[in-house]
Formats: sequence, structure tokens, C-alpha cells
Amino acid sequence: MIARVEPLTTTRRLSGPFDYALPEAPVEVGSVVRVAFGRQALDGVVVALADSSELPAERLVVPSAVREESVPAELVALAQWMAREYASTPARALSLVLPPPGRPRMRLWAQRTDRPLDGERLTDHQRELLAGLPALAGDQLGALRRLERRGLVTVLARAGRRAPLSRVLADRPVEPTAEQRQALTAVEEGGSYLLHGVTGSGKTEVYLRAAASALERGEGVIVLVPEIALTPQTVSRFQARFGDTVAVLHSALSEGERYDEWRRLRSGEARIAVGPRSAVFAPVADLGLIVVDEEHDASYKHEGDPRYDARRVAAERARRTGARLLAGSATPRPESWRGLPHLRLTERVNGRRLPPVKVLDMRGSRHPLHPETRGALAAARKSIVLLNRRGWSNFLSCRDCGKAWECPQCDVALVLHRAQDVLACHHCGHREAVPGRCDACGSLAVARHGAGTERVEHELREALDVPVFRLDADTASAKDAVSELLARFDAAPAGLLLGTQMVAKGHDFPDVTLGVVLDADSTLRFPDFRAEERTFALIAQLAGRAGRGPRGGSVLVQTSSPDAPAIEAASRHDTSGFLAGELARREALRYPPFADLIRVVCLSADAAPARAAAAAVAAAAGAEGSEVLGPAPLFRLRGRERFQVVVKAGRREPAIAAVASAVERAARDRAHRQVAFSVDVDPQ
Ligand SMILES: [Zn+2]
Ligand SMILES: [Zn+2]
Repeated sequence: MIARVEPLTTTRRLSGPFDYALPEAPVEVGSVVRVAFGRQALDGVVVALADSSELPAERLVVPSAVREESVPAELVALAQWMAREYASTPARALSLVLPPPGRPRMRLWAQRTDRPLDGERLTDHQRELLAGLPALAGDQLGALRRLERRGLVTVLARAGRRAPLSRVLADRPVEPTAEQRQALTAVEEGGSYLLHGVTGSGKTEVYLRAAASALERGEGVIVLVPEIALTPQTVSRFQARFGDTVAVLHSALSEGERYDEWRRLRSGEARIAVGPRSAVFAPVADLGLIVVDEEHDASYKHEGDPRYDARRVAAERARRTGARLLAGSATPRPESWRGLPHLRLTERVNGRRLPPVKVLDMRGSRHPLHPETRGALAAARKSIVLLNRRGWSNFLSCRDCGKAWECPQCDVALVLHRAQDVLACHHCGHREAVPGRCDACGSLAVARHGAGTERVEHELREALDVPVFRLDADTASAKDAVSELLARFDAAPAGLLLGTQMVAKGHDFPDVTLGVVLDADSTLRFPDFRAEERTFALIAQLAGRAGRGPRGGSVLVQTSSPDAPAIEAASRHDTSGFLAGELARREALRYPPFADLIRVVCLSADAAPARAAAAAVAAAAGAEGSEVLGPAPLFRLRGRERFQVVVKAGRREPAIAAVASAVERAARDRAHRQVAFSVDVDPQ
């Protein structure tokens, strides 16, 4: 027997797997081994075992080590599928499913033996100790060892759990509504579903009950959430109902915590994995259910290679394992609306209606706040204000010569951040001093255009006498900053939560009575076919945060495009109307879900090599039914010129294969050696 090993290297030039002799330690598909590779030693994953190799036996090298933790074979196969599906390499895809680094922390546990206590002479303290077993030995180790010598107790080392801290709420199981019961009956029967429930309609209770039935059937569960910090309620409700059988996987865990949670899932000690997109790779055996909460959320798309979409990976993993798939949202994506059978939750659980939404026309207005917005904010005790633009001003220019301040690395405007007193690029992180005068003509008249969260925060603090809590990437960078800020807002008797789209995600603050969207069309202006979908979701989600309590609520939307279909539909809470129109538009333009998009970006320091490589890719990327667009220039980013080719695929698999081989050929051609390539299947 030999082992076929995929060495974990990032280069695109190697195509494994490679044959190795079997080591002494047992290996199976999914074993992680250390192998000599050329002059270096690399980790590799065993992807197959075979009877023989084309290599002569004396040339087969034995792996130098086998890691104790292995990847489930099911995930090895999923990674191989992912490498093809996202035109990446098996090594890069496998690196996503690897056990995290670390080792178990062993702790001493004591438990009773089956020797009866009758006739034993025991002190009260000893009886008390015995009654409390099994338990961690802790500072009772001496006493327990004495009982061990009498054959009453065994003390053994077991892997302990470095448990992540979390605020666990009390469980509040509620009688399901008729609609929830209908949804659960459908899920029981198996298959994949879209759970379309208005905000506050009790989607989480459906997830919890579906998870409980999976556990009863002896199956495991994966629950995907957009971001743990922004959806603490969902996580803590799972913990409250299922306790330690829930493992939470997220980026803020320490290495030890992450290792322990992974190990608990791999060993079956924990049966429910909750986490953001990478939790789709959780080593849950006998998977029975995958939940994708807030399935419209853009964070499910991974921006590194492979550029996977956790929603598609979840669907594929469910298909391969026979697990049920339940994707939920108040504002589903057109893809899911068309592709999955619908389960509907049309009413909020407390019977409260969705808040009325009023659209305020901002055309011709010079001030960031409409008078009506000002009045409503002054009257509200608690409100949420969304402005999808951080910083103070988003654009600086000279009134005399017209010079605009741009990033030297990227061709985009620099944003003024007054708190740190810098101009910053939101794409590459470049920072420079705020100009006192124009360095082109010497004029002192430097104009600031546009208002970001920082400036609006300043204005709101001046105008209102409630505390303002600002939540955006600038205030959220520290660990736990987001959950702390949200907890303070929740606890405050009065306050205003201001921020970027982060404020519109799944929070539940019952005493918020007012929601405001400033510059609702800022997302509409993006040159992107998803601009309408994003704008609709943002307004509808923010509206869902207001009026959850007994005092009701209302929503104001400031826009200079009051007639835009996305804004109009959101103001009527008309999800199905919006999606019907959006699907018709996409069908006419051949956009997803009516065609698959594949985007290739070629990058280099100078424009000419990137353009030439993109032209070579465009010439070779065609497949039957595909439409190839480009090369088209993109704005310069991080000092690199960029050209993109977009393929609208009629048939997905051959189109991906054609693009992958076109890119591979161009990447190997010495003429394009200065060029880097990035392939994005289903770009967001
Ligand atoms: Zn000037
Ligand atoms: Zn930049």
C-alpha cells in the first residue's frame, strides 16, 4: 500500500498528489503527514490510499511524522470539489479544512469505580467528594488519590476544554406558531429550504427546533451566522438550549480555545457547531442539518483564494451528506428565492406590525440631516442611524485649481478622519497628513465634500442630548469592542446607535423606536449588478431593527433617488415584489441566477503586462454558451494596475474548466511572468 499525499504549498505550479510509502503509524484518508518535498519539509494531507505506485518502491519516501488529529474523509472530498469549483488548487482548498494548530490541555478527572461503598469506612468529607463525581480533581487530588488506592475512584488525564467566554442567556422556549410548525414539518421531511421570515418572525426558534430533532436522530448540526459579534443573540440562544454540546468557532478565539472546540466536534463530544463562514468546514460527523442564518449577508463570501461562498459550499456539503439545508432571511437573495422551495413566516411573533417607512427626498438639500429626521431623532428615546460611509468627509478638493486628494497607491479619493487627523485610503490603508493648503497651487481653500459617520456623529452630539454610540470599522477594531458597544447601547435608557451597515445586522433591541437611513442611495451608486439587492436588504434590515417593542416604531429613509425600485419596495416591506422585479431585470441582462459569472483579474506594476495577460485569458476563456467580456481596466489598487475579464457562463462546469485552463496557461507563459492572476467564481 502507498499513500497519495497532497503537499500543502501555495504555488499554483505543482499538481499533486504525490506517492509516499506508508509510515509505521496508521494513516487513512485525511491524515496530516509531514513529508520531504524537494529540499523542504511540508505538511501534506493523505487524499487516497492505493495498492501500487508508478514509482519504483525504492524511490518512495516515508513521511517523517503523522499528526494525531486528522481531517474527516468527507471534508477531504469537499476540499477537492472546492478546488475545482473555484478554479483554485487542492492544496489551498485543503488548508481550509485542516485541524487548527495546538494540542490538548490535559487535566485530571476523577470518577467512581463500580466497587460498592457498602462496608467502607468513609469520613463525611470523603462521602461528599464521592457524591460529586465525576469531576475535575482540582485541589482535591490528594484526597482522591487516597480513595483511588482503596479502589473506589480512578483518576485519569483527560483533555480539558478552554471554554470561550460568552454571555449565555436563559433559554426561553416558546410554543411554535402555526407558521413555525409548518416550516418544521417540511424540514423534518428532508431537503433544502429557504426560510423567508420577516424580521422578528422567530426564525431562530425554527432553527433551534430543527437542530433538536437532528440531535434526536443522532445527527450533528452546523449553524452559520454572519459575524459572531454582530449576532450574539443567535449564538447564546443555541448555548442556552443545548449547553456544552454547542461548539462556537470564531476568529476571536485564542489558539487553545479554537483547538479545543475543533477537537470536541471531531470527537463527537460536541454535536452543534456555530460560527461564521469557515464553520462550514466544522468536523461534524453524521451531519443532519446545516442552517445558514441571514443568508443574504455578504460576509459568506471568502475573499482569499479559494474565493469560496460558504452558502454554496453548505449546499454542496448537504448534498453529499444528505443533510437538510435551511437558509433563512428576511431579505433573501434572488438566487435562493428562485432556487429553493420557500417556507414562510409572515408575522412577527409578538403580533406587532412592521414599522411604517417614510422616504425623504434629499434632492437639493445641502445638509446631511433632513428637518424631519432632526425632529424625529430629538423626540425618540432610542434610535439607530445607518450611514454606509465612515470617516469625516469622503472627498477633498482644491477650490482654486481643482486638485483632488487621491491615494498614491490606488486611484481612489482619500477620506478625511478627523479623530486621528489623517487622510486615509479605505482600500490599502495608506495614510497622510491633512493638507493645510493645496500642494499644487498653494491655495488655502481646500473643500471637504460629503459626510461620513464621524462627521454625522459630531453633528448629532451637538444637536441631541442623548449619548451617541458609533459603530463602524474605526471603532470596532479592538477585540470585543463591538459586543461591548452593543451591550452598552442595549443597557442605556436613551441613546443613538450610529454606524455603517454593521448597525443593520441581526440585533434585537426591543426599545428602539426609530430607524434612520442617511443617503440610502450610497449603495445604489456602486457599478455592480448587486447594488439594487444590497440597497433593498440594507433598508429592510434596518427597518427590522425598529419597533420590536410595545411602543412600536417608525423608519425614515433619506435619499436622492426616491423612485429607485429598491428603495420604493423596501419602504413598502415588499420583498416578493422587489425580488420579482429584480429577477426579471437579471434575466434580461443574463446575470445570476440566470448565468454564472467568473471574474479574472490580472495585476502588475505597469499597465501593459496586465493588459496583455488579460487579453490572453480573454482569448482562451471561451466555452460553449459563454460570453467573454473585457479586458476592461479597473482602478489601480495597492500600486498595481488591474485588468479584468468577466465570463458569463451558460453552463457552469465547462465554463469554470475553460477559465481555469486559460489562466493556468497564461500563468505558465513566460511572457506574463510579471503578472499575478486572481480568479473569482460567483464574485460578490
Ligand atoms: Zn489648488
Ligand atoms: Zn490606497
